[in-house]
Amino acid sequence: MKTVTVTNRFFADPPVLLAWAILMAPLAVTSPALAQNRHRTELPFPDLPGLVTLRCDFHLHTVFSDGDVWPTVRVEEAWRDGLDAVALTDHIEYLRYKEDIPVNYGRAVDVARADAESLQITVIRGAEITRGEPPGHLNALFLTNVAALKEKDYRVAVRKAFEQDAFLVWNHPGWKQPDHKSVWYAEQGEFYTNGWLRGIEIVNGPHYDPIAHQWCLDKRLTMIGGSDAHDPMGFEYRGPPDDIRPVTLVFAKARNAEALREALVARRTAVFSQGRLIGEPEYLEPLLLGAIEIINPEIRLRRKGTALIQVRNKSPLSFELRLKPNPPGLDVEEKVLLAAGKVSLIRVRDVSDRVTAEQRVGLPCTVLNLLAAPNQGLKTVLPVKVEFEP
Ligand SMILES: [Zn+2]
Ligand SMILES: [Zn+2]
Repeated sequence: MKTVTVTNRFFADPPVLLAWAILMAPLAVTSPALAQNRHRTELPFPDLPGLVTLRCDFHLHTVFSDGDVWPTVRVEEAWRDGLDAVALTDHIEYLRYKEDIPVNYGRAVDVARADAESLQITVIRGAEITRGEPPGHLNALFLTNVAALKEKDYRVAVRKAFEQDAFLVWNHPGWKQPDHKSVWYAEQGEFYTNGWLRGIEIVNGPHYDPIAHQWCLDKRLTMIGGSDAHDPMGFEYRGPPDDIRPVTLVFAKARNAEALREALVARRTAVFSQGRLIGEPEYLEPLLLGAIEIINPEIRLRRKGTALIQVRNKSPLSFELRLKPNPPGLDVEEKVLLAAGKVSLIRVRDVSDRVTAEQRVGLPCTVLNLLAAPNQGLKTVLPVKVEFEP
């Protein structure tokens, strides 16, 4: 209270104000030089009931393996792209700059820590076990001792990751395979059967892998998206809002690393990439319904009349709706785009032969770019009530 009074008097005093203005004048003149291009473009996907939505990139390289980026830059890139968490997953077996930077496994996370704390980005200590195919490349996330994975036998390396409670992801399974078609080798079968393999990258960089997507559905593995960026992010993507890295949305019980790990084990993820969201219908549907707001959810139709339904999409993803087949008595336009950050219209027309008043609840639709399975959009119902006047 006392502080407020003093502050008010300070600014109310004309000589003090004048002195203040003189003092600040050089700063005003130099302000163009201080102009920054350091902005965060948020990714406003909604939280799900009882869960927070965290935006993550689980696959990144730095100069501590073969990336061309210092770890603190990875943190600010994540902040700019609207993320909440990143995993730094430098290769264990391939250290391109070892003549220039002392070999110190897992050091990238320590270097990134201070910036990450001030920007509220969770940084996960990871590593990429990098072998020929099979078993290919595997990311171990939430490690405590990266150096322990430096083993000749990849099975021993993977076991040591598992002993640290790491979450193991099979990276880019289609890489170097004939026609880029992913192959499930006996080695993956072994890690799957003994419970070590928990997730697969269904998106790596700009590439979506429908085979890996189907494996995640059939084998109850976690769907992961990772940029696998080696260069500065701006070299690979134009930047938000239109062109950003793949982002794994994680539906966690809290905003911290332990909660992230729990959610990954429980398979509560969806992958946002290239204008699509890929995941289990049980998460895609509440995400869609939380992202949109039907401004006039109750409409009235006169005989042979038309009406317009206004739908606000608060998310960063435009939803591509297919509204056929129509409910009885209604003609709805076949395709509607619910544009990101805008209010869109859905036009409905009465084509019924009714003689009395009727009502219908719900507009069935398929959201083509919410992938519940390869080539299969999410089927849902928009909560709209249509009153047919007599
Ligand atoms: Zn790799
Ligand atoms: Zn990688």
